[in-house]
Amino acid sequence: MTTLVWFRNDLRLSDNPALVAAVEKGAILPVFVLEDPAATGETHPMGGASRWWLHHALKALEKDLGGLVLLRGDARHVIPDLARRVGATGVYWNRAYEPRAIERDSDIKAELKSEGLDARSFKANLLVEPFEIETKAGGSFKVYSPFWRAVQGLTFDAPLARPETIRLADFDGGETLEDLGLLPVSPNWAEGWEDIWIPGEAGAHARLSAFLEEGMAGYGDKRNRPDLPNVSRLSPHLHFGEISPRQIWHAVREGDHGKDGEKFLSELAWREFSYHLLYHFPKLPESNWREDFNAYPWAFSEANLTAWQRGRTGYPIVDAGMRELWATGYMHNRVRMIVASFLVKHLRIHWHHGEEWFRDTLVDADLANNSASWQWVTGSGADAAPYFRIFNPITQGQKFDPDGVYVRRWVPELSKVPDQYLNAPFDAPESVLKKAGVVLGKDYPKPIVDHATARQKALDGYDAVKSRR
Ligand code: FAD
Repeated sequence: MTTLVWFRNDLRLSDNPALVAAVEKGAILPVFVLEDPAATGETHPMGGASRWWLHHALKALEKDLGGLVLLRGDARHVIPDLARRVGATGVYWNRAYEPRAIERDSDIKAELKSEGLDARSFKANLLVEPFEIETKAGGSFKVYSPFWRAVQGLTFDAPLARPETIRLADFDGGETLEDLGLLPVSPNWAEGWEDIWIPGEAGAHARLSAFLEEGMAGYGDKRNRPDLPNVSRLSPHLHFGEISPRQIWHAVREGDHGKDGEKFLSELAWREFSYHLLYHFPKLPESNWREDFNAYPWAFSEANLTAWQRGRTGYPIVDAGMRELWATGYMHNRVRMIVASFLVKHLRIHWHHGEEWFRDTLVDADLANNSASWQWVTGSGADAAPYFRIFNPITQGQKFDPDGVYVRRWVPELSKVPDQYLNAPFDAPESVLKKAGVVLGKDYPKPIVDHATARQKALDGYDAVKSRR
């Protein structure tokens, strides 16, 4: 009797309900399918940074399990074919919530069941599945605060232990990890990332422990400071399911973290909220939640988009963020908000372009979080930031990177510019720039837009949205 365990974004052995249930039945055959967007019609395919992460996460999982079948293609065919080929009696997996995944999984479940197989899915990757809670009036949540209050009122079972023994069924076939071609080759833009990240379950738990010991104290105040080590950086581990939100929830509640711990859990609940939104509004990655935003007069410019992507806008905090992203596959949340606001408001480039670039370059790229966050910043989303709150990239830099540590780390050509002018080198007297060894337009770009003018144009554009109300 063999049960297939179909791993997806749940690349862990502990707190893995599908794995535990399958192991209780007897031998298992663990499988991962790399889907080909050309075959599946996926409109938001995985980006390069995520593929790098996935390679290493699969490597870790294969080692932890003692074997993992790797296949390629459309899971709709690959999973039922594999089940038939090995004579499996069941296929178990943990649920995903992206619209295409839901459709695919229900088709596969129906097909397997029609052939008499025990096809089962489990809750594993969210604290609260989107269909488990509703507002007092009935219906889905559209505002975060009541959602968070509802989550706080719930209790969550203790995480499941890793199975003590796992018996693997024999299988001859499948691809090697190298065959999947997940790593960048030429150029290898991920060089050195192994020193920054440890993908896989062990790395995820090490990250959580380190954060609880060293970063959690002061999280409530310091989580907005990109120059400080007070955020967890658990997002890629969570995205790939190397650690479950339930494991994090219990680890935090069992410690003595007071208000910082609750603040942290409330941030974890933003992830839950994004999934809730995506499930109830499956068009979130493509369409404005608020339809009046369809009237916004975007002003696409290839040159401006490229300057933004490369960290050459002339606004140091924006450029620092975009360079951190390119160099490490990660960007601090505060800076994500600043650079996103800059793209959609100062440059008036549609959030789709930002979502796409983030999806390609973030190791934590996540359809729910990424589309919900871009819509939040734009103002087009549910419970979004008010449009007129246009971040000033100069004062944001001064406020959240007060000593200029973050900007100087990522924009080293400005390292000698004094704090007073660091976030607005274009306002510095020529003598100051000369002393700092900076020629604007040569060593560092002149600003691609003027803040006050861009702000006004963004507000003017918003009139078109308002006229639709
Ligand atoms: P911590 O502060 O340590 O938070 C712990 C966990 O809570 C995070 O790992 C994450 O899972 C969750 N979380 C925290 N803040 C948020 C938030 N605002 N929204 C949703 N979940 C949150 N997050 C992604 O995981 N993937 C994305 O693709 C993504 N795209 C984003 C795009 C934009 C424009 C913005 C503004 C935010 C985006 N975020 C995304 C949300 C947030 O920036 C990251 O989750 C966070 O920076 C991850 O760092 P951390 O793990 O150190 O966070």
